[in-house]
This record gives sequence, structure tokens and C-alpha cells, in this order.
Amino acid sequence: MASANPPLRWDEIDTVLVDMDGTLLDLAFDNFFWRELVPARYAERNGLAFDAAQREITSRYERVAGTLAWYCLEHWSAELELDLVALKRSHRHLIGYLPGATGFLSWVRRSGRPLRIVTNAHPQTIAVKAAQTGVHEHVDEIVCAHELGAPKESAAFWTALQRKMPFDPRRTLLVEDSLAVLAAARTFGIGHPIAVARPDSRQPPREIAGFVSVERVADLI
Ligand SMILES: [Mg+2]
Repeated sequence: MASANPPLRWDEIDTVLVDMDGTLLDLAFDNFFWRELVPARYAERNGLAFDAAQREITSRYERVAGTLAWYCLEHWSAELELDLVALKRSHRHLIGYLPGATGFLSWVRRSGRPLRIVTNAHPQTIAVKAAQTGVHEHVDEIVCAHELGAPKESAAFWTALQRKMPFDPRRTLLVEDSLAVLAAARTFGIGHPIAVARPDSRQPPREIAGFVSVERVADLI
């Protein structure tokens, strides 16, 4: 199963940080949830056509993109007057791993390197996803941006992470599907930022500019 040419040298890596949604877990769920299910429920509740609801919600999403509010279930539950935790829970059977993700996690763990998930996902989202997939059992820790008080797109997150757990940024791998997060990590000094080109298994791989990329995490081993 190992790739012929993994795009990094593992002897230069001491610490592994890995994003959750779109890197380990299939973003197909989140895309369905936020782009289809939430607008459909919002339309129902407010007597709108689906397209109108989708347009309104998209413009609300855009207003807070890249902030913790964007990732905050409580924010959206209040803003849209929908119980999004219950909605997420009732569709949890659709949550799943990207191909090869658990094999990658097991391989890293066997190598003895510290392995942490770093995620912008809201604690309640993490709880639902961990209960459904057991992803927390494959890593040493899940670090939640909401607990550090800043999203991964910001310098403040990386500074707070380093205070919480000392690591050598130059010898750290971050695998991540958000290019904004990868850019912030690189600015902070993370030596090996690598992009995931295919966060949603239902979509074709994206063209990634500016970062080394793999289609999926399994291609790193
Ligand atoms: Mg992600």
C-alpha cells in the first residue's frame, strides 16, 4: 500500500499534526450538511424556496468565514434558529473516513511520533464525529481551536499551540485541506505543511498551488 514516492522525508519529521475534516474524515458529510441539509431545513422553517434559503445562508457563511464563529455550532444554531447538534447527530451515519486515513494514523503511531489532530471543528461536532468514527482512539490528543481561543488560520492559534505543547515547528508535519491554514502554519514556521487535494470523496481532486500536496493522507507513507 505504500506510495512509490512519498513527497516528504520522514527522517525530518518528529511531530505530526493532522486536520480532521477533509483530511482524515470525508468532507462529503460537511458539504452535504452545510450546503444541502441546513438550507433545506431553513427553507422549510421559513417558508422559503430551497434556492433562496441556500443563497441567504451562503451569504451569512461568507460574512464570518475564517473566524471561530464560522465553525461554531452554537453560533449557527442561534443565527438560523435550528438545532444543529441534533441535526448532525441524526445524520451521523453519513460521517466516515477518507480512504486510507486509518492506515495512515496507525502507521504514524507505530513510528512512535507524537500524533495530534488539530481542528477548528466545534467541540460538539468533535464529540459527534469521535463517537461515530472512533477517530480519537487513533491519536494522542485532539486539539480544538475553540479551546485555544483562535482559529488555525490565525497566528494566535499557533502561538497558543506551542505554549500548550512544546514542539519544534521545523520538524513538524501538518497535513491539512485548508490552504489558508497551511499559509498561517508556514508563516509560523511549520517546516512541512502538506495539502490534501481531495477532501471530499465525491469531488475530483483540486489543483493545489503553493504547497506540496497529496490526494489523500495515505499517499504520505
Ligand atoms: Mg479541514
